[in-house]
Amino acid sequence: MTVPATPFAAWLAADPEVSALLAEEVERQSTTLQLIASENFTSPAVLAATGSVLTNKYAEGYPHRRYYGGNRVIDEVEDLARSRATALFGAEHANVQPHAGANANLAVYQALLQPGDTVLAMRLDHGGHLTHGSPASITSKIWRFVAYGVTPATAEGTGEVIDFDQVADLAKREQPKLIVAGSTAYSRVIDPAPFREIADAVGALFMFDAAHPAGLIAGGAHPSPVGVADVVTLTTHKTLRGPRGGAILCRGDLAKAIDSAVFPGLQGGPLEHVIAAKAVAFGEAAAPEFGRYAAAVVANARALAAALAAEGFRVVSGGTDNHMLLVDLRPFDPDLTGKEAQEALDQAGITCNRNTIPDDPRSPFVTSGLRLGSAAETTAGMGPDEMAQVAALIGRALTGRADEAVLGAVRSEVGALCAAFPPYAGLGSQGSAGAG
Ligand SMILES: *Cc1c(COP(=O)(O)O)cnc(C)c1O
Repeated sequence: MTVPATPFAAWLAADPEVSALLAEEVERQSTTLQLIASENFTSPAVLAATGSVLTNKYAEGYPHRRYYGGNRVIDEVEDLARSRATALFGAEHANVQPHAGANANLAVYQALLQPGDTVLAMRLDHGGHLTHGSPASITSKIWRFVAYGVTPATAEGTGEVIDFDQVADLAKREQPKLIVAGSTAYSRVIDPAPFREIADAVGALFMFDAAHPAGLIAGGAHPSPVGVADVVTLTTHKTLRGPRGGAILCRGDLAKAIDSAVFPGLQGGPLEHVIAAKAVAFGEAAAPEFGRYAAAVVANARALAAALAAEGFRVVSGGTDNHMLLVDLRPFDPDLTGKEAQEALDQAGITCNRNTIPDDPRSPFVTSGLRLGSAAETTAGMGPDEMAQVAALIGRALTGRADEAVLGAVRSEVGALCAAFPPYAGLGSQGSAGAG
């Protein structure tokens, strides 16, 4: 592989061990299919900001109110990131310091709730996130979570959508202080309006966790929860295609509570190099090309879902409105588990993750499903024709999963497909990250 691992790869040569590992990872990302729904390929500009000297600077506090000197430039960087975020999403206030989506959620709970308060959020086994009250997460130890889910699957394929009757009933019965919308494995539009109505009816606050669809919202492919929810949390690295990190958008009257919950409530010094990269990503997402990207991501996910259904898989909820789909493997092969499928596909150069499907009879470590996403390979320039090829390759690999020769043949076709859509073609020379 001649592609440098970072824009500063030559400097990294001073550490041959790390340098070699980065080169191997560039090779892996460029020669295998990246179908993990929470991943993307950032632009070279985002990589460059993330790898910049801003990592050297301590900047505890907020712009113009820092605990350390020397922050004149840093203040401008963070102000730029905040103003680009508020402009992009039409929000009154943005906090760009959360190190990750999980931190953003924790900070919001800390800002809006007292320990022991009740929160209504999505069931984990129906697609909720760990920070929505998993027994394994500190969130469940501090606050009392009650969970809503999706409707049962129906023969017509109309079920497996958020059960708003259940949300309303639970809200009335449990009187939550906060209602959380948002999911890590839900392929339909999450309409913020009915959540708002239910929250208002019981006097609850409403947080929309847009970790996954943030880029689709920014690109106009999904309805915006900003101005509907009291607070919106997001990650910057999923469909938004920026650096690994989080952000919070909120109403002006909540700004102070949110800001002090992030720092000093939860975090120490902000990662200003990542904040600079977030500014770059917010700028990229404001360009018209990003709207076309968001639409292409959804079109590709739909093409992949349709082609997988034709291969004999069942797509949970009958399809997708966003960048991801959940595949129920059982109609394809009742003996095939998500774990086995993930491992076979890994061998064939197709990277994705096993996932529980709603009411999965198997454990979360085994599962009956796979979660697939289109955000990364759409960045690399693939379209619906390539999605159909990907579905056929998945079908062949899983049918022939016991046969090394089949997996090897699929692996080499995957390699040829990826070679036609390099995510970092010319990085270091022309600096293009492929089609938008
Ligand atoms: C990914 C995700 C998060 C957390 O993001 P991290 O950056 O991994 O901490 C939070 N909520 C939802 C719904 C997510 O999908």
